[in-house]
Amino acid sequence: MQASQATVTENPRHPDNIVIVGGGAGGLELACKLGRQFGRSRVTLIDCRLSHIWKPSLHEVAAGTLDIHQEGLSYQMLAHDNGFTFVYGPLTALDAEARRLSVAAVRNDAGEVMIPQRELTYACLCIAVGSVSNYFGVPGAREHTISLNATEDAERFRLKMLELLTMAEMRKETGHEAGVDIVIIGGGATGVELAAELREASGVYADYGFRRLDPGRDVRITLLEGAPRILAPLPERVSSAAIRLLAKRHVTVVAGCRVTDIRANSVTDAEGVTRPADICVWAAGIKAPELLATLGLPTNKAGQLEVTGHLTIKGFADIYAIGDCAACPNAEGGLVPPRAQAAHQQADYLFEVLQHRFAGKPAPAHPYVYRDYGSLVSIGQQTTVGSLMGSLKGLSWFVEGFYARIMYMSLHLMHHRAILGTLRTAVLALGRFLVKRTTALVKLH
Ligand SMILES: Cc1cc2nc3c(=O)[nH]c(=O)nc-3n(C[C@H](O)[C@H](O)[C@H](O)COP(=O)(O)OP(=O)(O)OC[C@H]3O[C@@H](n4cnc5c(N)ncnc54)[C@H](O)[C@@H]3O)c2cc1C
Repeated sequence: MQASQATVTENPRHPDNIVIVGGGAGGLELACKLGRQFGRSRVTLIDCRLSHIWKPSLHEVAAGTLDIHQEGLSYQMLAHDNGFTFVYGPLTALDAEARRLSVAAVRNDAGEVMIPQRELTYACLCIAVGSVSNYFGVPGAREHTISLNATEDAERFRLKMLELLTMAEMRKETGHEAGVDIVIIGGGATGVELAAELREASGVYADYGFRRLDPGRDVRITLLEGAPRILAPLPERVSSAAIRLLAKRHVTVVAGCRVTDIRANSVTDAEGVTRPADICVWAAGIKAPELLATLGLPTNKAGQLEVTGHLTIKGFADIYAIGDCAACPNAEGGLVPPRAQAAHQQADYLFEVLQHRFAGKPAPAHPYVYRDYGSLVSIGQQTTVGSLMGSLKGLSWFVEGFYARIMYMSLHLMHHRAILGTLRTAVLALGRFLVKRTTALVKLH
């Protein structure tokens, strides 16, 4: 039966309430921490999806080494367990003067309204809606590439790759030459991690039934990067180590390559070289969601919300923004980079600010300061490379191998700890370790 299409007004049960929009790396951690302390009448989380997967894991979802049905955490469960209210649907409009926002109706596949449009009022608001792909106007990029910005994209990539592997296997069975060409555009952490994960996964897929395919020869992975080297923002040593590890895994890396045109089955660069691409991934850049420019709040050129050092939106003392969607100044005069560690730190800072507010105390005087603890890039399931920042400014340590891998995995566990608590995180980690030993190493259906 179709629900009423009338707008429903959800009145806050507490006059000094907070609404958080976006349950990702930053917003979900904030909602869980606040919910545990102040309860569901005061804390509301809105997200346009029903379950949460930590975004830095999406390359594993794409490669099939992480199963979304095992990894995804339901927002309703998290709301129940952490004591916040969950509202399902996308934020579509904001009336900052009236402190009111609109969440669009949720429809089923047939277009019928399942949940009507809702209006919510807030005393303070935190926007944490993350980022989307920036195609920089490259012709064909939007239409012919898959990005890794959302779980659906990563899952779409996985299914398409399975389909291509099956078709290649069938062609080989009938005596034809066949293979799969995967082109990844963007040699940042996302592109590098995906290339390495795919190479390892292609070997596992071959073991599980695609026996006619030689993964190193028939699954051809090419990584294109516009800058002179991959992982350009990281120290040169990290970049060289990644190139070496990718070469060992038969991934072709082409740096200084500016893509100018993408078609259904090919990618062309500024030099006029056209490469075959059965499947193409766009990992070349991100920008803020376009919705932000429609909210009547100040945005920068990249569409991010302009915030002060205290994470309030300029000119709006009761609206905060954290994570990728916030243009937050850092100590060097630039902006805090769009990274999970920044979103995590900002959620911690805002938790402290709101604890003061809800206790009727003045907000802490100190602004948010971004601490860069370094960057780690996963190269498949066994190894990681990266640099760790020392406590002295400018000092960094190169790390590689199993130790770096453990540190990389601990970042994911820290996120789970913030939303599930220590004991449940430990049980979940053990459970997943055991499940991995009793199920296929890649998702085959
Ligand atoms: C493949 C990959 C690997 C990465 N690896 C690393 C890494 O190793 N280290 C690192 O520091 N960073 C990494 N990043 C970057 C990191 O994931 C992001 O910086 C981080 O997730 C940003 O957190 P956030 O809370 O701002 O947004 P997100 O985590 O993206 O969450 C945004 C949330 O908002 C919701 N949302 C969006 N629009 C709306 C709307 N209109 N209404 C309601 N809800 C909405 C989304 O559903 C989502 O839940 C990686 C990113 C990718 C894609």
